[in-house]
Amino acid sequence: MNALEELKQKVLFCTQCPLHKTRNNTVFGNGNPDAEIMLIAEAPGFYEDKSGIVFQGKSGKLLDKILDASGFNRDEHVFISNIVKCRPPNNREPNDSEKKACLPYLYSQIEIINPKIIILLGSTALKTMINPNAKITQIRGQWINRKGRLVMPTYHPSALLRNQNLKRPVWEDFKNVVAKYRELVNPEHYSAHC
Ligand code: SF4
Repeated sequence: MNALEELKQKVLFCTQCPLHKTRNNTVFGNGNPDAEIMLIAEAPGFYEDKSGIVFQGKSGKLLDKILDASGFNRDEHVFISNIVKCRPPNNREPNDSEKKACLPYLYSQIEIINPKIIILLGSTALKTMINPNAKITQIRGQWINRKGRLVMPTYHPSALLRNQNLKRPVWEDFKNVVAKYRELVNPEHYSAHC
């Protein structure tokens, strides 16, 4: 069993925080274990908890569209995960002790997958991974160097569903990621839109 699969088995049976009591499924993360891009969001929601797969429902469809426009797809170019692996009841934000209990799994995922680029989707991911005082409205679109990896914070797809005005900045951020991917990973990377 490889290291990521071993970690997945640990998460599957994890009872380190109270979120295990209300989950239907743990949501470890999905994608290519050798991807050079990792996307990190806040937590599983209703559909993710039902299926055990990250980014389902409307947000998932929108994320797939954004990835597709960038020339990326879930199976080949990215690995997607969350700060916490079990759904908080009623989709509330995970609290500090839940995040603290679950974060070692995410850090291990990052070490094992070893991506060059990390995209943080939304405020909780930004505050947890970079700085609790960071504001997504101010920091999005700017590259941050975190332990030798390049991090791009942008809005969560669910925010775009609520506010159409965020589509343009998110697209700018993904164009930035495509340019960096060409620079660091594959100069021939094809995207029909950028
Ligand atoms: S959220 Fe994380 S720490 Fe809490 S039970 Fe689920 S896997 Fe374990």
